[in-house]
Amino acid sequence: MPIIKNFFIALSNNKALNNTAKKLGPMFGANKVVAGNTIPALVETISRLNEKGIVVTVDNLGEYVSTEGEAIMAKDQILEVMYAINNYNLDAHMSIKISQLGAEFDLDLAYRNLREILLKANEFKNMHINIDTEKYDSLLDVIQTVDRLKGEFKNLGTVIQAYLFKAEALIDKYPELRLRLVKGAYKENEFIAYQTKDEIDRNYINIIEKRLLNCNHVTSIATHDNQIINHVKQFTKDNNIDKEQFEFQMLYGFRTELAEEIAKQGYNFCIYVPYGDDWFSYFMRRLAERPQNLVLAYKEFTSPKMLKKLGIIAGATVAVGSLLSIITKKAK
Ligand SMILES: Cc1cc2nc3c(=O)[nH]c(=O)nc-3n(C[C@H](O)[C@H](O)[C@H](O)COP(=O)(O)OP(=O)(O)OC[C@H]3O[C@@H](n4cnc5c(N)ncnc54)[C@H](O)[C@@H]3O)c2cc1C
Repeated sequence: MPIIKNFFIALSNNKALNNTAKKLGPMFGANKVVAGNTIPALVETISRLNEKGIVVTVDNLGEYVSTEGEAIMAKDQILEVMYAINNYNLDAHMSIKISQLGAEFDLDLAYRNLREILLKANEFKNMHINIDTEKYDSLLDVIQTVDRLKGEFKNLGTVIQAYLFKAEALIDKYPELRLRLVKGAYKENEFIAYQTKDEIDRNYINIIEKRLLNCNHVTSIATHDNQIINHVKQFTKDNNIDKEQFEFQMLYGFRTELAEEIAKQGYNFCIYVPYGDDWFSYFMRRLAERPQNLVLAYKEFTSPKMLKKLGIIAGATVAVGSLLSIITKKAK
């Protein structure tokens, strides 16, 4: 359903909608996939997952940062989360987008913000800091920043998107880093990225196998795809790959039962927990990946209270509304 995917990706990229949605607070069911916007709510979520033997990586939501002040504020919010993780002795670390730290307008500012975060992470039991990958046009910034910092910090890792033709080359470039391998969440063109699910899945398996066979650093396999997960379980068994060498990861609120079952089977498991006010773009990307997620939203969207609130972002949400009914019918 490429039209639907493109539609939600376009919404996720709309800065005005993101700003308005931030003021309104999570809706359309986003509160089921975002762990609140207060530190106590976040601590409660992490503790609950830790009790089930699941580690957490926290994403302090926010991507559209356009001033130095906003970038510094984002860095301070990330530090606040890190303090909470440390103070409450939680088994958790951070996932960070460098766009949030100012990379889109001043890469050096993002570097300085990230370095401050990494220095604090060293004090907090060497907490792991993962740099998420975003749209392709920011990949070079991520690579430059990681390359600048990887010699100084051993607790730094990043993400490789399997839909990119250059994914395998990136796996080869970073044998010494902890890496998260994903299929890729953005809309990229046919000159740089595979377009079909079969091609992306094939390259995903290719990079997972290559990495697991050739590298002892932790590899995070971040997917909700049961076929890929089963393949990895069998592959690691057949090749005597130690369970400590890899972990599975999923997003908070998706396939929770499967996540808990895998953790119970003795595999390392980590859940990516988004936190904060800036929920819109994150949620739209999830809808782009899997329109069935709209079932989460449907009831809430049609309540009279919600319809009243929606006046402010009416243009786009009317479109979402029409799509909701079409897609939820298809999803059943
Ligand atoms: C922890 C984590 C971190 C991520 N970080 C990044 C990042 O830094 N950069 C980036 O570009 N992307 C990131 N992503 C997103 C990723 O790239 C994919 O867009 C996203 O995970 C969807 O792909 P998938 O592998 O889950 O499988 P898909 O190809 O979306 O789904 C495959 C199959 O899995 C099953 N399935 C999937 N979801 C569900 C569900 N909710 N319920 C039931 N069945 C389901 C269905 O059978 C589906 O056909 C991250 C994903 C995760 C899990």
